[in-house]
Amino acid sequence: MRNYLVAGNWKMNGDMASNRELVAGIVAGAPDTDRVKLLICPPFPYLAAMAQATADSTVVVGAQSVSEHASGAYTGEVSPQMLLDCGCEYAIVGHSERRSLYLESSAAVASKFKAALEAGLRPILCVGESLEEREAGSTEAVIDEQLNAVLDTVGVAGLETAVIAYEPVWAIGTGMTATPEQAQEVHKHIRGVLAGHDAAIAESTQILYGGSMKGENAAGLLAMPDIDGGLIGGASLKSADFLAIAEAAAQG
Ligand code: PEP
Repeated sequence: MRNYLVAGNWKMNGDMASNRELVAGIVAGAPDTDRVKLLICPPFPYLAAMAQATADSTVVVGAQSVSEHASGAYTGEVSPQMLLDCGCEYAIVGHSERRSLYLESSAAVASKFKAALEAGLRPILCVGESLEEREAGSTEAVIDEQLNAVLDTVGVAGLETAVIAYEPVWAIGTGMTATPEQAQEVHKHIRGVLAGHDAAIAESTQILYGGSMKGENAAGLLAMPDIDGGLIGGASLKSADFLAIAEAAAQG
C-alpha cells in the first residue's frame, strides 16, 4: 500500500521570520501517522534554516528546482550536492512555471532529474497539460512526452525513489481544480505507462495531484485509487490550510 506525500511548494514567498512561523505551525500540527509524510519546499535561501527547524520532526525539506551540473561557472544555479548539504531530501523538477517562464525543455528536465537522482536526492517530476492541449485532446500525448524524456534518460529504475506530480497547468494557481475523476484518469494513465516498463515500480511510485488543492477538495481527490498525495502551492502558505490537506490524507 502506498503512503501519502503532502508537499508544499512555497514558490518565491515569505521571509526568514514568516517562514520560521510557517514551519513551526506545520511541525506542531503534522499528523501523527506513518501513512502521511509532509514535505516543504521553501525558496533556496531558507532551506538550511527550515531543515534545522524540522530536524526533530517528521516533516522533510525539498528544493523547488536543481541544477543539472555538479559545480562550476553556472551563475545563479544550485547543485544537487548543495541541496543535500542544506538538508534537502527531495527536489522538484519540471514544474510548469520552470517549463514556461524559464523555458526548461523536457530534455533539460530529464538532465536535472538524473543529476538529482545520482546525487542522492529524490526527484519530484512535474508533468501536466495546458488548457489548449486538454481541449485539443492531447493530454496523454503531452504527459507521455514529459514522462518518456525522463524514462529514456534514467530508465524505469530511476523512478524507484522518485515521485511524479500530475499538475494540469490550467489548475495551477487558478482556483480551478481537476475533478477527482479527471485527475484519476490521468494518474491511472501515468501508472499504466510505468507498468509498461516495470509492474512493481508502477505499483509503488507515488503520484501526487497538484492544482488548486485545498482543505475543501482534498478528501475527494485523495480518495482516488491512484492519487497518493498533493503538491500544493497557494494552500501551503498558511499552516492551517496545509494541515487541513494533511488531515484529509490522514483520514483517507
Ligand atoms: C503548484 O504550483 O505546484 C500548485 C499546485 O499551485 P496551487 O496549489 O496554488 O495551484
